[in-house]
Amino acid sequence: MEPPEWTVLRCSCCSMCFGRRVGTRGRCTRCGILANDSTEVVSHAMNVEQLQSEIGLANMPEDLREEFLEKMQHTTPVQSHSVGDLRRLKECILLAAEDGTLTAESVAKSLARMNIRMNAIDLIEMGYEQGLLFKLSEDEWQVLD
Ligand SMILES: [Zn+2]
Repeated sequence: MEPPEWTVLRCSCCSMCFGRRVGTRGRCTRCGILANDSTEVVSHAMNVEQLQSEIGLANMPEDLREEFLEKMQHTTPVQSHSVGDLRRLKECILLAAEDGTLTAESVAKSLARMNIRMNAIDLIEMGYEQGLLFKLSEDEWQVLD
């Protein structure tokens, strides 16, 4: 593992956090005080993106930070869940397609068969946005996949 490229420091003067690149002298972005040996090291970051989120987090008030971290933890599983859902919804579209075309009615049936609680039109619109469906008429879509 490579050593972290950035250090997040807390200013001893105004207690704001700022980043310091390894090998350079850090300076508080708010009051301009230079970092020294007694400056508190809050965390490390491998790159600028990580540094920005570390600094943002470090400068967040305590109560907000907890809420933020909690939100982050709750968001991650939901995201991976929706990727799995997307695959299922695609299956559902394919299931609904007879002879490569489908209607809102056939989508509604396949949603029911797969036990997915979703509006057929919503699914069709999603498939359309994802480039899976091509609209043939008001109530007929062709599966492109
Ligand atoms: Zn400062």
